[in-house]
Parts: sequence; C-alpha cells; structure tokens
Amino acid sequence: MITITSIFKNMIIFLRTWIKLIVILILGLAIMAFFAFVVYQPMYAVNLDGEFIGYTKDKSKLQKKIHDYEKNGDSGTVAFVEIDTLPEYTMCLLKKGYTANDDEIFEKVIRSGVPYYKYYAIMENNEEKYYVQTYEEAEGIIQSLKEKNSKNQNDVTYVLKYETELKQFTDVGTTVAALYVETPKVVVNKTVNTKKTMDYSNTALGIALIRPISGTITSRFGTRSRGTHTGLDIATSLGTPIKAAASGTVTYAGYKGSYGYMVVISHNSSVQTYYCHCSKLYVSAGDTVNQGDTIAAVGSTGNSTGPHLHLEVRVNGVAKNPQNYVY
Ligand SMILES: [Zn+2]
Repeated sequence: MITITSIFKNMIIFLRTWIKLIVILILGLAIMAFFAFVVYQPMYAVNLDGEFIGYTKDKSKLQKKIHDYEKNGDSGTVAFVEIDTLPEYTMCLLKKGYTANDDEIFEKVIRSGVPYYKYYAIMENNEEKYYVQTYEEAEGIIQSLKEKNSKNQNDVTYVLKYETELKQFTDVGTTVAALYVETPKVVVNKTVNTKKTMDYSNTALGIALIRPISGTITSRFGTRSRGTHTGLDIATSLGTPIKAAASGTVTYAGYKGSYGYMVVISHNSSVQTYYCHCSKLYVSAGDTVNQGDTIAAVGSTGNSTGPHLHLEVRVNGVAKNPQNYVY
C-alpha cells in the first residue's frame, strides 16, 4: 500500500544516495586537482623560428622585457634592436622540476635581432675621424678645442649616429690631443718689414679688403722712374680718418723712417696691410681691430710731399699690388 509517508521516505533515500555520490565526486576532483597542483605546473614552452628555446612561467613579464630591449636597447651602446621574428608561446602543464630559463630565452631572442649602436662621430671637415659614446664627451671635445683655440675649432663638429657596426671609441683627452692644431700666433714686433720685395701676381688673400679712405690715386704700385713703389698712394685732405681694410691685430704702430707714422695690421699669419705717412695714430701694437675701425689720420710724415695714404698689402712679407684687392 502506497502511502504519502512511504513516498516521502523513498525520496529521502534517493536524495541521500545522490548527495553521497556528488560529495564523492567533488572530493575525488579535489584530490585530483590537489595532486595535479603538487605534481604539475602550468608553463609556457617558447619557440623561436620553429626551434624550442625554453620555458617561462611569466609570459607577459618576458614579453615586456624583450619589447623594452627592442625599443630602448641597454644602458650602454645598444640603442635598439630590430627583431624580425618574435618567439611563440604555448601553454602546457609540466611536472614540477622543469625550471624556467627566462634569461636564456631573452638572450637568444635579442641575439637573433640586429642591434643598432648609438654613438657620436667626431667630424673634421665633414669627415668622420673619431667616435665617442656620449653627448657629453662629444660636447667636451668641441669645447676643449675652443678653449685651446685650436686652429681647426670651427671645422670640428659631431653627429649622432645609429649604426649596426660598432666603432672603436676614443676618450675625450686622446681625441682632443689628436685633433688639436696650434693656431699660429700673430707676432707683435717693434720692427717692420720695409724690404722692397714685390710681386705682381694676384695671390688670393682669403679675406676681403675695404677702402681705408676715399681720395685720388696719385701713384700706383710698381716700378717708377725713380725706383720701386711697394704700395698705392691715395691723396686726400689732412686728418681724414683711415679705416682698417680688414679685421686683425695691430703688429706695428709707430714712426718708421721714410714711411713716417705708420700702422701695420696682421690679418692672419700671412697677410698684412700697411698705412703710412699718417698724422695721428689711434691704435697701438697688440690692439685688435675690426674692419672699418678708424686706426689713424691722413698725414704727410716721412718721405712725403703732401697729405696722402701710402697703402701696402703684403703676403708673407712680399708687397702685392693693392689694386688687385681694393680700389
Ligand atoms: Zn707711396
């Protein structure tokens, strides 16, 4: 006889059986998971170009490290690396005992790329001469050559390079010593070269001259009936300001026999201009003058018959025709 009570009893038995089964199943899974957790570990197998190169536990950390190196290189000379193929990662469960070798993987990956080295090429007249690693070193070389007044200071520059070829670096001291060229000193003398050596050829001076005064040319450069004339005579009124034909250093300012009161300006180690028969001198030996500065006043001192400027242009002591360059 089926009663409500017996149906209820049967249902409880049925449920109990199922609950037992479910509990056993859960326990079983838990034991298996625990076993798996103790014995196995999840890892990534890393392949590069189809070749297995190792295991990593932390894929994103390794990827970031590789990516950073690719973009920014190291703290030394490597600026960045061009990597054609990046590694592939495959997740797997491995028995404990396998160890990750992230460092080896990293090395293999970055070595598979092409490194670009960052350095500074020190150039002289646009030709690469030396190489240094840092901006500070490159700047230091330029500044040092300026401080030493090296003759080539304006010809030495540097340029930042990114190249796949690593260069031999030199240090600042060695580079400066190798590049330094002494600037010839302009000698300030008490004497003045008045030799009558002349040359008619139109030698390039390397500088441009302006007219020291305006006036009338009364005697030209060359051989005259009464001897040789090593300059150009320009007549004008007494006291007219005489301008420096080009910038330079005054290497003579004083009285010199038949030249009268005169000024010599040395424009570089070879070119000089002479301003003679002056009435007044406004500069002294050793002064630096700019082109156009007033240096003296027109006069008629020395061997002169009237106010005029006797202008000479000398290259390595040899008098040149001033009209090759001015007037
Ligand atoms: Zn003269």
